[in-house]
Amino acid sequence: MNYELIILGGGESGVGSAILAKAKGIRVFLSDSGMLKGEHRKTLVDYGIDFEEGGHTEESILSASEIVKSPGIPDTIPLMQKIISKGIRVISEIEFAGRYTHAKMICITGSNGKTTTASLIYHILKSAGLNVGLGGNIGKSFARQVAEENFDYFVLELSSFQLEGVYDFKADIAVLMNITPDHLDRYDHNMQNYVDAKMRIIRNHKMGDSFIYWIDDPVVTKEIEKLKPASDLYSFTEKNNQRAAAYSEGNKMYIQTKGTVFDMELELLALQGMHNLYNSMASGIVAKLLDISDDNLRLALSDFKGVPHRLEKVASVRGVQYINDSKATNVNSCWYALQSMRTKVVLILGGTDKGNDYTEIEELVRQKARGLIFLGKDNRKLRAFFDGIVPDIEEVNSMKDAVDTAYRMAEKGDTVLLSPCCASFDLFQNYEDRGNQFKDCVRRL
Ligand code: ADP
Repeated sequence: MNYELIILGGGESGVGSAILAKAKGIRVFLSDSGMLKGEHRKTLVDYGIDFEEGGHTEESILSASEIVKSPGIPDTIPLMQKIISKGIRVISEIEFAGRYTHAKMICITGSNGKTTTASLIYHILKSAGLNVGLGGNIGKSFARQVAEENFDYFVLELSSFQLEGVYDFKADIAVLMNITPDHLDRYDHNMQNYVDAKMRIIRNHKMGDSFIYWIDDPVVTKEIEKLKPASDLYSFTEKNNQRAAAYSEGNKMYIQTKGTVFDMELELLALQGMHNLYNSMASGIVAKLLDISDDNLRLALSDFKGVPHRLEKVASVRGVQYINDSKATNVNSCWYALQSMRTKVVLILGGTDKGNDYTEIEELVRQKARGLIFLGKDNRKLRAFFDGIVPDIEEVNSMKDAVDTAYRMAEKGDTVLLSPCCASFDLFQNYEDRGNQFKDCVRRL
């Protein structure tokens, strides 16, 4: 059989793309080098979609005119090298599904804050009664939703890997939270390659499209000077900078767009901490650009429930607060977590190192850490860095030991913070598993 479209990778985004392709009458074939999850296999069978698992048949793949590649597959694998050298067009699920919807696209990227901001924007729009879907890196794939639903708006969380495969897709409202080093192992350890991928969020932007960004991010502002986007620019800052579309002064944040000014007391925001102020501000700008009323916006910014594993309060045990920030998988997000702490902290960190440089958190660790607990299979790098900086350091290799040790180290009034700076794959299935184990252990104290 000669296929028009090949889908590489049978996870949620691949299966969603296959469903959409089938619905559009495209001859589609899905190929995965590993074994599919049972539910995905069943879906493909139910829809009558051709697929293979446990290996790739190169002949079919290399004869395709277009390939939708899962964000998890690096370009360095031999099959991708062959595909690239044959000049076959490789796109992402976002590019593919974007062809089949007229919904207004609100897209969020950045090194940190994507899920929180995308979820908050979705919450604001949905609470205001808009017909809106949430996708990208979150939940049900964008492609599957395009096939099955008819939304007027989509809020999409986009990773750099998804953005690499966009060409004609356009984010009507693009939000770029920040750019700090992450995933450099996938970018030849070249920061500019990662930055270039992120900046694709404003690809195809013309006048009238909106670009929301953090004005104090030197990497982003440099890119804006270089690329000179045609978009309408809206920036945010926690400082009192009234040139920005969102800023704060005294105990309030202000959002000025379209000739109107919205203000709200900082203490009423559901999400607290400086990084979360950025997330609230970026979301507020989106809301005002979409003409959400002040009352609706105020309510939604104050009653948002937050996202699990992001500075999630777990419990207070004997006067010690336990916070699960398992999603802090890089050093920068741990910096923000530490920065938002008002007490002494027992910090649990460690896991799979992604080329981390701990200098960034050194000062905050000196100021705030009562003790450090290294949780991981290989803690040599952490040891080498923090030995001599914090007197109380322990190494463990299970979550139970980490929580028990923290319980012993912490004093009344302290916070025990799991904010690991690292990926979780050495000891856990993923960051959710790590966070859930932390919560279970804390609840058993
Ligand atoms: P992402 O989806 O980009 O990984 P999340 O919203 O899941 O981001 O948050 C991941 C971690 O980053 C959280 O643990 C949180 O402490 C931190 N964080 C959240 N928002 C921001 C922000 N705007 N800037 C820096 N760090 C943030």
